[in-house]
Amino acid sequence: MKAYRTEIKPTPEQCRYLAQAFGNARWAYNEFIGFNQARYRHRKDGYGDYGYCNAYAVAARYSLAKLLHARVEGNVRKATVAQARLLNELLVCACLPAVDLNTLGPDLARLLLDALTEARQLPRYEPWMDLAHSKSVKQAFINADKAYAKLFANRKTGKTTKGRKGKTLAGPRFKKKNRSKDSIYLVEHIRVERHRIKMPGMGWVRLKEYGYIPIGTDTVSSVTVSRVAGRHYVSCTPKRNTVETHEPRHDGKTDGLGIDLGIKNLAAMSDGTLIDNPNRRKEPRRLSRKLKRQQRALARKLERITVRTYHEEGKDKGKVKQVNYKRPLKECRNIAKTRLAIQKTWQRITNIRHDHMDKAIDQLVGQEPRFITIEDLNIQGMMRNRHLSRTLAEQELGRFVTHLKAKCAEHGIELRQADRWYPSSQLCSDCGYRNTAVRNLNIRAWDCPSCGVHHDRDVNAAKNLKAATEYTVIA
Ligand SMILES: [Zn+2]
Repeated sequence: MKAYRTEIKPTPEQCRYLAQAFGNARWAYNEFIGFNQARYRHRKDGYGDYGYCNAYAVAARYSLAKLLHARVEGNVRKATVAQARLLNELLVCACLPAVDLNTLGPDLARLLLDALTEARQLPRYEPWMDLAHSKSVKQAFINADKAYAKLFANRKTGKTTKGRKGKTLAGPRFKKKNRSKDSIYLVEHIRVERHRIKMPGMGWVRLKEYGYIPIGTDTVSSVTVSRVAGRHYVSCTPKRNTVETHEPRHDGKTDGLGIDLGIKNLAAMSDGTLIDNPNRRKEPRRLSRKLKRQQRALARKLERITVRTYHEEGKDKGKVKQVNYKRPLKECRNIAKTRLAIQKTWQRITNIRHDHMDKAIDQLVGQEPRFITIEDLNIQGMMRNRHLSRTLAEQELGRFVTHLKAKCAEHGIELRQADRWYPSSQLCSDCGYRNTAVRNLNIRAWDCPSCGVHHDRDVNAAKNLKAATEYTVIA
């Protein structure tokens, strides 16, 4: 289902609220993991048969912790029957006598709260958690739960989850400030008008793009608010699928299209058109140089406030043992400013690249070909791009395929992926002669030794892809 992502313009007050909400969601996510890890370590048999404490169980325990905390403060809120029952169940687990939750005094409430937290029966609760809407806290638990569910699903199938340096993970990782994406998820009570959106906890927030999200009180089922490089975005999931599917217009006039993805050009098409690589244009190159300068500046600033100790002996001799900060990092405003500037430059480059890519895809699909054939990227894409940062190439060409897939599905175009071992760049598209000398990536153009036709490397590959007979249909 299509999600509507667009930028919002929150007031300074709403920005502060969001900063708090992002922090709370991250804290809740981490608390879920920390709580389960502590329970895991506490038990001799690891997770055993009992699995882990899921999102609903943690949310119920969290609200109980919150209630007990209110009691400590002398704030008497009536407990539900379920909460009273849960408290007694937890007390039994911790070998403590049962109590009546509704007549609990502040002192006993404090005692129970501390004892149950210590016994890993209750997650922690912090008063500042109430500064943001509780809905997003519950969703943070659900997100962390999903990460756990994945771990357990992998255990069942015998697949182990490998982390960095190939270590088997004991569970999901903690989210780190400045390293993880800031986002909150909200459901229900969302209203949209032409120029603004109403969300729980924030009231009306102005939109930067008018009339894009479906207008109404019941059109959007959930919203993810995120912050990227100092800007705020909403991603709305509509209740009804509003994507218009175009009827395919295969009237015989249209033909198929082969696309060869690459580095020098983003894509070459079988009809001879080339889409250039946006990274090679003037503006992204200027921004890349700027990014490097900013990264050097950040490195210098960090260098100034850190003290490194090195290993004196052993196999790690000469390596960094510990990094200490002369003053807390969060106090260093200039470092924070440089970090934000880096994020902004990086985002600008990404936006240019994505815009370019999306326009290219629109143009391809707009031709309404009968089918589109692409190569199997997993192997070939990587081999070709080894001189580039591998992850970057993967991500971006992967993004191209994902978006192309979605667009093809929308327009009723068959998307084919050629067989992995199909030698699309080596065959002559005119006579079918296989020229193995073309394996050399530096050969950009060649003449067929058999029939003498002059070929551009990428366009020839695209032509062969179009003619491929062994393929899988992926959209
Ligand atoms: Zn030939």
